[in-house]
Amino acid sequence: MFIYLDNASTTKPCPEAVQSAVEAMTGNFGNPSSLHRAGLDAQLAMDKARKIIAGSVGTESGNIIFTSGATESNNLALRGISSAYGRKRRKIVASSVEHASVDETLSALEKSGFEIVRVSPREDGRFYSADFVNACDENTVMLTMMYVNNETGYIMPVKETFTSVKRKYPEIITHSDCVQAYMKIPFRVTALGADLISLSGHKVHAPKGIGALYIKKGIRILPEVTGGKQEKGIRSGTESVPLICAFGASVGKYNQSIKERFEKVSALKSHLLENISGIDGVSVNSPDDGSPYVINISASGKRSEIMLHYLESRNIYVSSGSACSKGQQSGVLGEFGIKGKNADSALRISITAETTESELDEFANALRDGIKNIRG
Ligand code: PMP
Repeated sequence: MFIYLDNASTTKPCPEAVQSAVEAMTGNFGNPSSLHRAGLDAQLAMDKARKIIAGSVGTESGNIIFTSGATESNNLALRGISSAYGRKRRKIVASSVEHASVDETLSALEKSGFEIVRVSPREDGRFYSADFVNACDENTVMLTMMYVNNETGYIMPVKETFTSVKRKYPEIITHSDCVQAYMKIPFRVTALGADLISLSGHKVHAPKGIGALYIKKGIRILPEVTGGKQEKGIRSGTESVPLICAFGASVGKYNQSIKERFEKVSALKSHLLENISGIDGVSVNSPDDGSPYVINISASGKRSEIMLHYLESRNIYVSSGSACSKGQQSGVLGEFGIKGKNADSALRISITAETTESELDEFANALRDGIKNIRG
């Protein structure tokens, strides 16, 4: 038994997702490209999942491409758009706090000759849409901005920024990595002003290895993976029907309760913050108006990794900063003004609506003990 407070890294697949995957690996195991009945049945199961996922972001099935996860979706979005539109327009504008799957891809594009402009938050740790508009110009092909930051829960001004940028430069293609917002904050692609969005299954109680890319109708994108022309030729390779079905099942389940869960998780966040506010030396790095699902704190100068393993010894699992970087400190906290000792002792607690107050109380007690017992 353990207390799992690392849901921004990955979530437990829900029973509906597991069952759906099992069905697609036992009875309904055909190749969706096959012309016989088994193929058609697999195709129908996949269509059903695609429709649910499309509907959950306010679009039609034809605009959703399945990928192996958000890392691939982000790569496909950035590389596929810059190949399709980047001959004349050579600049890409991004926020300075993107996930590595965006940031590293931007660095690769920079090496191949694109100019990358990374916009930072201001002194107050907040992003302003005007700064992105100012960074864009006639030479800009693409603007990418994540919706919710995975390390701090900061909610980026995506809608305001995309709308203002498009008002001035309608040609610029907009992309948002919506991984940490999906199924947590209600949004629709059109209202967001996004031409492309990236989604990941395993952050929303589906298995790992499945993601999606929304591509607005009419936007051209060149494939990264070529072959049998599955997924409209944008992403070749036999689709993982079990994972796609599981993704559809989890979204079908959680899409019904985004608002209720948001309220519940907000109450849990308040409960936790109240509880740890009395602990000497603990400071909160997440903004008050951030996503309640991600709470970043600094623990009194105690090194993150040491505290993480101390908590682990109490059967409580959290993350130090971003779990994707495997303990390596990313520059993201520094961008938000969290530096030095506060960055070295940062912990990320990421919860779900199933997290209980008593689990959070146990975490707070263990944190208090850790601060007392860990030297240095
Ligand atoms: N973007 C963000 C904001 C993330 O948090 C993650 C997962 N850590 C990813 C992209 C990558 O997603 P995946 O694991 O599906 O490749």
